[in-house]
Amino acid sequence: MKGYDFVVIHYAEIGIKGKNRVMFEDRLVRNMRSALEGLEHGPVKRVPGRVLLKLSEKSDYRKIEAVLKRVFGIAHFSPAWSCASGMKDIERKALEVMKGRKGSFRVTATRSWKGFRTGSQQVNEKVGETVVKRHKLKVKLTGPANSLFIEILEKSSFLYTEKTSGPGGLPVGVSGKVVCLLSGGIDSPVAGWNMMKRGCEVVFVHFYNEAMGGIRKVGDLLETLRKHQPGAKLYVVPFRKLQNEVIAKVPARWRMILYRRFMYRIAEGIARKEGAKALATGESLAQVASQTLDNLGVIQEAADMPVLRPLLGYDKAEIIGLAKRIGTYETSIKPYQDCCSFMIAKHPVTRARPSDMERVEAGLDVAGLVKGALAGAEVFKHGR
Ligand code: ATP
Ligand code: MG
Repeated sequence: MKGYDFVVIHYAEIGIKGKNRVMFEDRLVRNMRSALEGLEHGPVKRVPGRVLLKLSEKSDYRKIEAVLKRVFGIAHFSPAWSCASGMKDIERKALEVMKGRKGSFRVTATRSWKGFRTGSQQVNEKVGETVVKRHKLKVKLTGPANSLFIEILEKSSFLYTEKTSGPGGLPVGVSGKVVCLLSGGIDSPVAGWNMMKRGCEVVFVHFYNEAMGGIRKVGDLLETLRKHQPGAKLYVVPFRKLQNEVIAKVPARWRMILYRRFMYRIAEGIARKEGAKALATGESLAQVASQTLDNLGVIQEAADMPVLRPLLGYDKAEIIGLAKRIGTYETSIKPYQDCCSFMIAKHPVTRARPSDMERVEAGLDVAGLVKGALAGAEVFKHGR
């Protein structure tokens, strides 16, 4: 029996109470609406402890399912049939749902509306008995062939037989805004995804050297990430002038650290404009020379805001595993020369000290270069 009329959506509730909970639920509903834009569906609204999405006759549930699987904050969801919240109505609906099914079954009822007189265990027994009598199916409590879930709410009850996992995490936006430095590599898209997963609205920044080719690849990465945050913004910042200046005035072994320090400063300028509270990068401890503890410390000093590094403790293989799951891996491994690889030393400094920086940056107009780069930044909001 198809003809679902609702989708029942559950989120992980742990730790969300009072006002925060309303904020969380409202945001989840808003994010769902925006992710579902363009698909046929009825109203999305919150009811105690869950969100209900009404399906219309024209709704294609499989398309809706594909979208909901990417909305952070959703723990699991189910296509459901609704009925009035009366014992007889529930039994009638259960018979319809179980008609034509084969093998064993179990009923799992939850009574969220305490005004419903029958306890959930009694509902399980009553509905179970009715189904056994009419359809000659057998009850099996562990590992049944069919699971029938019943959720009893005040206005209606919902019956369903399948549960799909959502991506977990928190709704994008409930944790505030961050600016994520997005290169064309494997790591930084995963870092951005991680920040979204923990409820951050992410604004992306990409630095590119105009002499080194286009930014199409970064646009493709953004498209994949936008499935979790529709319309996510990307700033692209031309870096050639700044790099030429660094190349002219700074020895090769220091350049990588300097490029990074400039990236942080410029990203921070964008973060202030955007009202973001932190930066995020795909740095992972000791993965490459610029990510030793010493160098990370020196790079960090260029920024006043906290720099979050969600991949700090991940091995490369773990990051690759995540990138494959997220769907960015195939794009990330396409050839692309990141501007950071421009005119750097084979053996860069691995143990920079904060006291080195004044000397190394002495010949540069740091504030002017940052200002110039910010002035050249372009925003890509929708499409490329
Ligand atoms: P990734 O896959 O993120 O490129 P990586 O191992 O190549 O990782 P690095 O190139 O050392 O790492 O860069 C470290 C971090 O610095 C990146 O994860 C990203 O956050 C930031 N970054 C590097 N290059 C750029 C760039 N061109 N534009 C924006 N951010 C960058
Ligand atoms: Mg890189």
